[in-house]
Amino acid sequence: MDTGILLGGIEAGGTKFVCAVGTGPDDIRAEIRFPTTTPAENLSQCLAFFREQGDRYGELTAVGIASFGPVDPHPHSPTFGYITTTPKPGWANTDFAGVIGQALGVPVGFDTDVNGAALGEWRWGAAQGLDTFIYLTIGTGIGGGVMVNGRLLHGLIHPEMGHIPLPHDWAADPFPGRCPYHGDCLEGMASGPAIADRWGKPGGDLPPDHPAWELEAHYLALALHTFICTLSPQRIIMGGGVMAQPQIFPLLRQKVQASLRGYVQHTAVLENIDSYIVPPALGARAGVAGAIALAELASKQ
Ligand code: ZN
Repeated sequence: MDTGILLGGIEAGGTKFVCAVGTGPDDIRAEIRFPTTTPAENLSQCLAFFREQGDRYGELTAVGIASFGPVDPHPHSPTFGYITTTPKPGWANTDFAGVIGQALGVPVGFDTDVNGAALGEWRWGAAQGLDTFIYLTIGTGIGGGVMVNGRLLHGLIHPEMGHIPLPHDWAADPFPGRCPYHGDCLEGMASGPAIADRWGKPGGDLPPDHPAWELEAHYLALALHTFICTLSPQRIIMGGGVMAQPQIFPLLRQKVQASLRGYVQHTAVLENIDSYIVPPALGARAGVAGAIALAELASKQ
């Protein structure tokens, strides 16, 4: 496919970076991955990669960055494109989009990693044709991207769906949670590291019938109950390492229906929940596809 358009994507994660050029998940011309170290090193690695690919395939039209956060995704803000207050050493107040855009001379789309993944699923994956949906990742942390009426939701900063408080039955589950800010918020109770801390070994080492999964589905279902009632999503896409455990989806769907008790009167929830709470259609490519989708959006603005 040669449309004359060539997009660059940066998926900036807390442990690794993925850079790619192409036009979508089925047309990735080149890709590179490297560990997350310092802004100076990682940004020059990104620039070197894009310059090299530019020499090979022609000039880039735009670049998209889907970044770990917190970030400033507001185009009119003086700190647009910055990673802002992250506790990650060296990364607080990093001008990410500005440095990349000025060095390459192209428009830059910039958003949270989860808003990026949501946009990628909307463009090419499990949210095609929808205008209001959420994308959640349940892994090292828990985050959510949201599209409302066809636009990614930013609001005050951007959603932080991993940090909602949850009902916590201390007798049934004495684990105090591990969020440094809130203890037993959703991320504190249900992230991959929370599972490992509570049970003394990583989720990947627990058998599919271990009580960990029933409890995990319980907490996720409480969170989805809240998100369904507040945002009225047409679909919920659930990615991340924890969701790779296949036994979670059936448990979760069951518990969401039980928790809602028939209150949300729509066939999507009442009858077709298997196609309502779903894994990402783009699988492991969701992240980098999201960054390329952000580039595509920036190229049209
Ligand atoms: Zn928290």
